Amino acid sequence: MEKKDIDWSGLGFGYVKTDKRYVANFKNGAWDEGGLTDDANIVMNECACVLQYAQTCFEGLKAYTTEDGRTVCFRPDLNADRMYNTALRLEMPPFPKDKFVDAVKQVVKANEAWVPPYGSGATLYLRPYLFGINPVIGVKPAEDYQFRIFTTPVGPYFKGGAKPLTLCVSDFDRAAPHGTGHIKAGLNYAMSLHPIVEAHKAGYAENMYLDAATRTKVEETGGANFIFVTKDNKVVTPKSNSILPSITRRSLMYVAKEYLGLEAEEREVYFDEVKDFAECGLCGTAAVISPVGKIVDHGKEICFPSGMDEMGPVTKKLYDTLTGIQMGRLEAPEGWIVEI
Ligand SMILES: *Cc1c(COP(=O)(O)O)cnc(C)c1O
Repeated sequence: MEKKDIDWSGLGFGYVKTDKRYVANFKNGAWDEGGLTDDANIVMNECACVLQYAQTCFEGLKAYTTEDGRTVCFRPDLNADRMYNTALRLEMPPFPKDKFVDAVKQVVKANEAWVPPYGSGATLYLRPYLFGINPVIGVKPAEDYQFRIFTTPVGPYFKGGAKPLTLCVSDFDRAAPHGTGHIKAGLNYAMSLHPIVEAHKAGYAENMYLDAATRTKVEETGGANFIFVTKDNKVVTPKSNSILPSITRRSLMYVAKEYLGLEAEEREVYFDEVKDFAECGLCGTAAVISPVGKIVDHGKEICFPSGMDEMGPVTKKLYDTLTGIQMGRLEAPEGWIVEI
């Protein structure tokens, strides 16, 4: 496969138009066959449900080249599954899970020249999304939907090493106890734009959101789950019904137990105990793990012993092991790596 002539390592995290994208339409109560198209633009009515009432959801996953030159994706079945559940909560017709994985394969295959080479640190990011497209003015779900996947090459998340981030405890809430925090809905991001702009203005990389009901428990950031490491090397991640179930986090918890022989526990995490942890990281598809060095709560600083220069030792092991599995340097659990 002849690759595109791109400075892969110099790429940022932005949209680059690639050759093909996948489109399927839901009309008259059924999904059509679906297929690839060159057309990167969507034409829709001015009153489309997605534009008026934000009936839209998305997924994010990556395709990349392994050490031995295979083009692969990481656990796309879990993205299919999560989008299925998201769609049900938003009263959208779920896109069939087997068709989702098939669409992922089709779109990566068609854009294989855009899948960055092994060792560049870059990946091809896939963005599946589903939205209500017909005109809706009285509040109700749409009748017609479109499912798409586009791809865009993205650069190495950490240019020149993973520098620990500084977070602040937000005064805003991300998700209500019986709301939509557990699904990957665009609306969760729309409302987080103001808090993140404010946090950036104040010099912080991300917001730490606490549970909306009691403001005593750790939830997540706008787009990544937390993992913590205790002083006796136990990996802990917050449990809550309003956290988005990160595929990276679920994979890291497995890696902690099965590859590193560590105790790993999903449980409620009180903000009061955060100061006692040895390490902290954010996990998601984009970065795998971003180390956190400091959390500021209204002027009060929590500084993790791992410091502001590098990842903590357990975080680093988790990161190296999961990226090793992804890149084909370590043997993967059954079904984690899907070859294109
Ligand atoms: C997508 C997302 C994550 C990360 O999930 P991954 O499946 O690991 O990419 C975490 N939190 C939120 C709010 C998200 O939308």
